[in-house]
Amino acid sequence: MISTAKQLVRKAGVTRERVASVRMCCERHALAAMGRPHKRYIGRILCYHSIGQSAYGVNDVTPEKFRRHIELALEAGYRFVPARDLALNGGSEKDLAITFDDGLRSVLTEAAPILKEYGLPWTFFPVSEWSDNRHPFNDDDFVLGWRDIEALLAAGAEMGSHSATHPDFGGIELAQMTDELGGSRDMFQKRLGFAPETFAIPLGQSGNWRTCAQKAAHDAGYSIIYAQAENTRPDGTVPRTFITQFDGDRIFKAVLKGKFDTWEEWVW
Ligand SMILES: [Zn+2]
Repeated sequence: MISTAKQLVRKAGVTRERVASVRMCCERHALAAMGRPHKRYIGRILCYHSIGQSAYGVNDVTPEKFRRHIELALEAGYRFVPARDLALNGGSEKDLAITFDDGLRSVLTEAAPILKEYGLPWTFFPVSEWSDNRHPFNDDDFVLGWRDIEALLAAGAEMGSHSATHPDFGGIELAQMTDELGGSRDMFQKRLGFAPETFAIPLGQSGNWRTCAQKAAHDAGYSIIYAQAENTRPDGTVPRTFITQFDGDRIFKAVLKGKFDTWEEWVW
């Protein structure tokens, strides 16, 4: 009886996830078709997660699709620049930057070789405790370990922090925020010999960040805070455009036209 109940609960969880995924797919296609373009005068920072780790669900983009995004952008006259340049100076409307959240291993095995082939700069934001083998995944190879991160840094990638354990900063107390922000910097310092000064907000939606978090991040030593959608991001943060599993040619072209500048991803 108990196991049947457990099975039902598990099944309900899987079903919910599937419904959420279908809803996101519909939303992305509808916005690409009917959304209003948003004219911009500065560069755009794209946010990816894994490249070819299908277990990561809606946030996984296949290597083929990732390569296609780069090709589409180059064909349309975009040039790729470091995210930091856009965060500091805005850049021009034809500037694009590539970032990866969560420190997943396919960034090393799949994304880095493609980016190297095209000679593009890029930035990644690992979760310090996850890379220190305390993560929610059943497989240590699912995330970047310290040696992997060192290899990426040696190859020229830029790195920021994505917190210590990836909490929702919209729902934690100030003391925990301070631990997450400072603890993450301390861990990177200990393992890599430097403490990053840029931070990508876990989840990244406007509801996941408050004024007190912004202050705590600055107090902890972060000077640049990356968020999500251009039109809804919290004050003082740098916008990024999230890219999903569903983003084929049509959706990606719509992304570049600013049709997703008010869209916030609501599934982790
Ligand atoms: Zn994240």
